[in-house]
Amino acid sequence: MELDTKDLKVLGAVKKGLTTFGGIKNGVNLKKDELVKILDILDESDLIKSTTGTGLLGQKKLIIHLTDKGDQKIESYLEILRKKWREMLDLAIAGERDQLDQMIKDNPYMVNMMVFYKVTTTGTGLLGQKKLIIHLTDKGDQRIESYLEILRKKWREMLDLAIAGERDQLDQMIKDNPYMVNMMVFYKVTDLPTLSRLNLRFLLEGKHLCYKCKKELKGYMQKFSVSDVRKFRFKLPRGMTTRDDLCADCFNNLTKH
Ligand SMILES: [Zn+2]
Repeated sequence: MELDTKDLKVLGAVKKGLTTFGGIKNGVNLKKDELVKILDILDESDLIKSTTGTGLLGQKKLIIHLTDKGDQKIESYLEILRKKWREMLDLAIAGERDQLDQMIKDNPYMVNMMVFYKVTTTGTGLLGQKKLIIHLTDKGDQRIESYLEILRKKWREMLDLAIAGERDQLDQMIKDNPYMVNMMVFYKVTDLPTLSRLNLRFLLEGKHLCYKCKKELKGYMQKFSVSDVRKFRFKLPRGMTTRDDLCADCFNNLTKH
């Protein structure tokens, strides 16, 4: 069966040595119900098994292990990630921006997974695998540096546009360079708290967030647009545009004109 990103994260967390429910839950930052569901799927697919251990206070607790099949599954996934990372590095070094953008566009969560699994760090991996050491030639180093310089410059331009409220130009910039923001986060040109603060989190992975509280607006959730705000004669939050939505909580907390 095909596993999705979250299933693989949970499997990876067990591989990293998180063996209790609480440990995995904190490690992958999932809600209890969600994790229960995923563990069920992994168990039914024969990728994990559980035993009962005894806690410090003598209480019974569930210990989760990978089966051989689960171990092979996660190892082959890690191998794919490592291979992709080497390909991306080659593209970055060769200055093949278009191909790199396309690759990230085709695999939007890949870079996040790489960061999660630390595929891109040098030294001994968390999973005890052999060191993945990447040597850059001086030329390669210059290429990466100039790529970073471009990203930094673009980021400053985007910031200026955001501050000036030029959402259309900002959107166009992202359309021209899809997933550039992922690369910016990846290369630490910017970071998630900054994106959240500036209401720019939506640029990443195309996530749609509430304009005010930045909660993710999932498909089934109620959303309120600028026209809803106008219809109820509420005060429009500063900077909110027709492309933005509010969650029900934030909408209900708006004040009347
Ligand atoms: Zn909200």
